[in-house]
Amino acid sequence: MHDVIIVGAGPTGMMLASELRLHGIEVLVVERQAEPSLLVRSLGLHARSIEILDQRGLLGRFLKVGRLYPGAARFAGLSAPVREGAASPYGDVLGIPQPLTDRLLTARALELGAIVRRGVAVTGLEQGTDEVAVTLDDGTVERARWVVGCDGGRSTVRRILDIAFPGEPAATEWLLAELHVTSAADEVARVSEEVRRTHRGFGIGPAPEVRLPGDGDHSARDDHAGEASPLYRAVVPAASVSEDRTTPPTLDEFRAQLIAYAGTDFGAHSPRSLTRFTDATRLAERYRVGRILLAGDACHVHPPLGGQGLNLGLHDAVNLGWKLAAAIAGWAPEGLVDTYEAERRPVADEVLSLTRAQSVLMLPEPGPRAVQRLLRRLVEFADVDRFLAESVSGIGVRYDLEGPDSAEVGRPDVVGRRLGDLVLADGSRLFERQRAARGVLVDSTGALDASRWADRVDVVAAPVAELPAPAVLVRPDGHVAWAGDADARPALDAALARWFGARLP
Ligand SMILES: Cc1cc2nc3c(=O)[nH]c(=O)nc-3n(C[C@H](O)[C@H](O)[C@H](O)COP(=O)(O)OP(=O)(O)OC[C@H]3O[C@@H](n4cnc5c(N)ncnc54)[C@H](O)[C@@H]3O)c2cc1C
Repeated sequence: MHDVIIVGAGPTGMMLASELRLHGIEVLVVERQAEPSLLVRSLGLHARSIEILDQRGLLGRFLKVGRLYPGAARFAGLSAPVREGAASPYGDVLGIPQPLTDRLLTARALELGAIVRRGVAVTGLEQGTDEVAVTLDDGTVERARWVVGCDGGRSTVRRILDIAFPGEPAATEWLLAELHVTSAADEVARVSEEVRRTHRGFGIGPAPEVRLPGDGDHSARDDHAGEASPLYRAVVPAASVSEDRTTPPTLDEFRAQLIAYAGTDFGAHSPRSLTRFTDATRLAERYRVGRILLAGDACHVHPPLGGQGLNLGLHDAVNLGWKLAAAIAGWAPEGLVDTYEAERRPVADEVLSLTRAQSVLMLPEPGPRAVQRLLRRLVEFADVDRFLAESVSGIGVRYDLEGPDSAEVGRPDVVGRRLGDLVLADGSRLFERQRAARGVLVDSTGALDASRWADRVDVVAAPVAELPAPAVLVRPDGHVAWAGDADARPALDAALARWFGARLP
């Protein structure tokens, strides 16, 4: 029997696999696709995801193939321009096409010892008291103590559990393709720019590179890699919302839409991929039924405006991983696993709301354009700009961690927020102390003690400039569980017990 079966080897599933492996939890990932997808959906990661990669020691690998763009995430493309010489408080955006993100996360999970079975789909789930039986489409049955459905927007796990997925159905559908064209590059760029002035859902440009160093000169799965023209990535609104979105569009359908919007199909041919996506916006009513949980797109979908979906899935995984590991290892305090849904579902709800707002703002009608004009002026106010950027980047997330005794959490302005990186007295960085996904007590007072939780919590006892309180207890997901001073030992003990379980004898 496995400790955890993760359904789906997308970014959420692979991030979760690594988080669990950091705690020694045995993980099997089952994935329907025999080969990783080369389709570029996400184009980048926001500031909070960049921080998480840094906390887990992964940022270096991502920076080798991605590119940091200064300035914060853009709400409906409206954030104020980065002021000359001003370091952005919310960090940069890391441009990296999704197939590379997926591959780097998979490589990491494999290195840490996760087992991945590709080419098998989950078709059935049956819960017993202590285990879940998972039926696969090759007729085999695998068993695990817990199952997490990270199987995307059309989640089989969510459907089997009969979890409602309320929200708005698709009103608009787009076609996305990677293909070759015969038109000259400058002609493609000129037409694309012209069409985008009136249709923001349209775009065509060179496809991002999805090779890693060592992959060889040609992309292994582009059958037309020898073509004279480079591969292009094109998005165009579909003629209507299709009944069956699991069937990809044909090349002819795609060309017809290019002609409808651009007056030319650019000589499109030899597609590497053809797919559809929509603006459906939905949030799962529950994230957990017994020993089965949902994470990532399996529990929230929204149009890709603002580029938050993949980021949200990574943050779900980092929130859930240590809690599930604690439950399996036996030290989880009562209700710890349920804090996953209590914390993450409101965050997804807020992201859905932001995306709805951006969808309306980007409409070409006079009303939305007037609101856009107004907002363009409002983002000149630094506070408005910061609020929007923190919302899109995930930096502004604050979990409501007020416990039964609210005095125990200490500083409410700090508690529940993520703690950014800090330089420690020995010159090392706080994020470097979070590689193992353990708790960290940063204690500038030197008077506090967490030794009774030494198997779960590390202590950094030294003066730390810019610490928001004399002492701060940080959870494995980087969020502050408690902040106080040297006099607050009982409150610290309560917080340690609340998040990290019983003290050592
Ligand atoms: C055009 C477009 C642009 C986007 N741009 C951005 C962006 O810039 N930034 C951003 O953050 N997000 C973006 N997104 C969203 C992002 O792609 C998704 O949010 C992200 O892929 C979700 O990750 P996931 O792991 O939760 O699900 P998925 O990536 O969908 O992975 C789910 C996996 O589960 C597998 N699976 C499904 N069913 C089964 C089964 N029964 N058994 C076994 N395996 C199964 C699937 O094959 C798949 O590999 C974009 C999306 C689109 C469509």
